[in-house]
Amino acid sequence: MPRYEFRCRTCGDTFELSRPMAQSSDPASCPAGHDDTVKLLSTVAVGGTATGSAPAPSSGGGGGGGGGCCGGGCCG
Ligand SMILES: [Zn+2]
Repeated sequence: MPRYEFRCRTCGDTFELSRPMAQSSDPASCPAGHDDTVKLLSTVAVGGTATGSAPAPSSGGGGGGGGGCCGGGCCG
């Protein structure tokens, strides 16, 4: 079950709740009982929207990538 992080605007506390995704947008009460809470961006990334496309590390060996030793003639 995914965890969602909320922040209470009354006491400023942040708390996490585990709830089904179907209830992800339901209002939540802070542990102190306040209802004025906002849902923060979840730490659980669901779906990969492009937030900075960092180059993925090459998986597997070889492959003749640029800038390597192979291709320059130094590895036989
Ligand atoms: Zn509160």
